[in-house]
Amino acid sequence: MCVIVSACPVGAIKQRKIGPILADYPEIDEDKCTECGICIKECPHGAAYKE
Ligand code: SF4
Repeated sequence: MCVIVSACPVGAIKQRKIGPILADYPEIDEDKCTECGICIKECPHGAAYKE
């Protein structure tokens, strides 16, 4: 499981299977997200970012 899913204090990140090989990708629920920035710091691949 993606580490940022469990790092989010409000449970705003879920994993979803997308693409032809149904790979797991994290998806953020914008309504729940408090923009605390924890997932940005915790993502080991630098894939989480804020626009
Ligand atoms: S920025 Fe949003 S999605 Fe990321 S850890 Fe904080 S509340 Fe969760």
